[in-house]
Amino acid sequence: MTFNSVWTVINLDESISNDTIQSWISFAGIPACFRFVFQSPFANAWTTFTAYDSSVPMPLAPWTICVSSATDARFTWTVAGLSTIGLHQASIGHWTGEPQDDLGARMWHEILHCYELPADNMQTSERAEFADYLRTTGSLHAAGFSADPVGYEASAHHTQILVEYYKYLMHKYMGCDCFQEGCGEQPVVPSEDGSTPSSGNEDAMKKLLYIGGAVVFFLLIL
Ligand SMILES: [Zn+2]
Repeated sequence: MTFNSVWTVINLDESISNDTIQSWISFAGIPACFRFVFQSPFANAWTTFTAYDSSVPMPLAPWTICVSSATDARFTWTVAGLSTIGLHQASIGHWTGEPQDDLGARMWHEILHCYELPADNMQTSERAEFADYLRTTGSLHAAGFSADPVGYEASAHHTQILVEYYKYLMHKYMGCDCFQEGCGEQPVVPSEDGSTPSSGNEDAMKKLLYIGGAVVFFLLIL
């Protein structure tokens, strides 16, 4: 892989476990070429960032994603996710009762933005090629999407077509075919009882040192 495939997750919602977040990742089918480690949400790991009328947690380290409750009083979520491009940080909010695959897809979406992939362009610049991809891969969604791309995205197949699109992007731009070649499932997550591998924290600390805390956010996209 030519891209950083290890992402650190900072779980800022005490009401959910890291295992729950890992289950979102698994349900969405994020390919195993992305690996996730979980870091304790120590205070210096994130900051509050304001954009698009939202005030949300944002990691200070690159290749890191915050997960928080959208109803957490510390934050204001007017969008579901935000990411920085150049600094490779992402953040998602979740609302009670949202399907697990939706939440995994939300994380996946913001992560793809961090690699500057056109995660928002399913209906625009990528649409024709994506429709071809669905046909050539024998997707169950090929006919429905080709017949009415916008309607299909808005249908009950919403999350499923998003997931297909993210796989397409990873295949096209990253050369990742984990989901086709069966190169392994997502690893079992360490429990949140303190047995998180030390490497996760050490890596995160190196990243924090690397950027020296002098973080300037730019090029924010939804
Ligand atoms: Zn987006």
